[in-house]
Amino acid sequence: MNRETSRDLYDRALDVLVGGVNSSVRAAPQPYPTFVRKGDGGHVVDADGNRYVDWVMGLGPLLLGHDLPESVQAAVQRRASEGPMYGMPTELEVEHAEFVARHVPSVEMVRFVNSGTEATVSAVRLARGVTGRNKVVVMQGGYHGAQESTLVEGDADERGPSSAGIPREFAKHTIPVPFNDADEATRVFEEHGDDIACVLVEPMLANKGIVEPVDGFHETLRDLTDDHGALLIWDEVITGFRVGGLGCAQSKYDVTPDLTTFGKIIGGGFPVGAIGGRTDLMEEFTPVGDVFQAGTFSGHPVTMAAGLETLQYAAENDVYEHVNDLGSRLRDGLREIVSTQAPDYSVVGTDSLFKVVFTRDGPPRNGGDVDDAAVDRWNRVFRPQVLDDGVMLSQNQFESQFVSYAHTAEDVERTLDAYRDAL
Ligand code: PLP
Repeated sequence: MNRETSRDLYDRALDVLVGGVNSSVRAAPQPYPTFVRKGDGGHVVDADGNRYVDWVMGLGPLLLGHDLPESVQAAVQRRASEGPMYGMPTELEVEHAEFVARHVPSVEMVRFVNSGTEATVSAVRLARGVTGRNKVVVMQGGYHGAQESTLVEGDADERGPSSAGIPREFAKHTIPVPFNDADEATRVFEEHGDDIACVLVEPMLANKGIVEPVDGFHETLRDLTDDHGALLIWDEVITGFRVGGLGCAQSKYDVTPDLTTFGKIIGGGFPVGAIGGRTDLMEEFTPVGDVFQAGTFSGHPVTMAAGLETLQYAAENDVYEHVNDLGSRLRDGLREIVSTQAPDYSVVGTDSLFKVVFTRDGPPRNGGDVDDAAVDRWNRVFRPQVLDDGVMLSQNQFESQFVSYAHTAEDVERTLDAYRDAL
């Protein structure tokens, strides 16, 4: 496959963009990232004109695929043609917030922001402001964006920031616990309960090869936060309006957090994030309460239009039936292939998320360390081979892959063939 234009663009990019990219994960593909010319349904076309079945899907936002339905396109174009943004409120923000509040069990009020990172930053600040406490419990292997409070590694004795540029003192306020380890979470609350502002947790680890919660884990976190006066924050940036459909993962698992963070799908492919929750908590944000929160682009009209129309389209069509059906066909087909050709690997995922991970029992259920050799095999051998077969997989071994409404049964078959060949 001729990919010279991508290679040349990457060479040019390396001179002017750090690592040739604008988000670290995009630099992972070997030997260089694919530069995209355009999307088309469930496919992307690269800068050389090669076409791939695309399971990256914008890293999750594109529930409907690359071709926005007429209603979404029309709404976006109308907004863009009437002045892209105002720095003053619009009716669209109200309508979008009403939609989210109507469908998501824990949400009465919403504050829109511009990314998932911004949402988790503001949610943690709100929790600290409401409780007057500093400590934040997060999960090992969880991801909440490029934010100070969660970029932490190491155990209690040698805990520190996992990125340069973050003061060491910040890390002492963050307590990572193993995902799915109710006993350790309980122990942490016994020791620090009076100082814990919140638990920030994804419903499932979605950036670690997809680790689903074991029975009772989320209920334990709910009880612990209730008993100790801390807030439970669910980060539904990936799962929101994907896992569990319009009710999100909290309806699937039947646990009601105090606050929820969103991103990705609710912007219909445009930059977005949001915090949602009970009125008494949300009204601690300025201008009603004292927890400062603001943003020039927040509630951007084009984003609000695209996001709202996308969600309405999903509510009125068989979107979740379709993506979940293809998701289970992929998982079933991959399980069959893996069981005969690569029994040391495993298939993970739920709803419209799927992934083959290069370990027999799936990724570590507690979010712990993964096998570096598996990462290397993915980057250098497996992914490039599948790419040559015209299938675009996620850009690292542990990121989810996403089914969209635009994908077809043929895309699934082609993908299973590519896995069969490569494995
Ligand atoms: N939370 C989760 C669970 C995510 O997966 C991500 C990004 O993938 C974020 C937060 C950060 O969102 P963003 O990249 O929009 O800042």
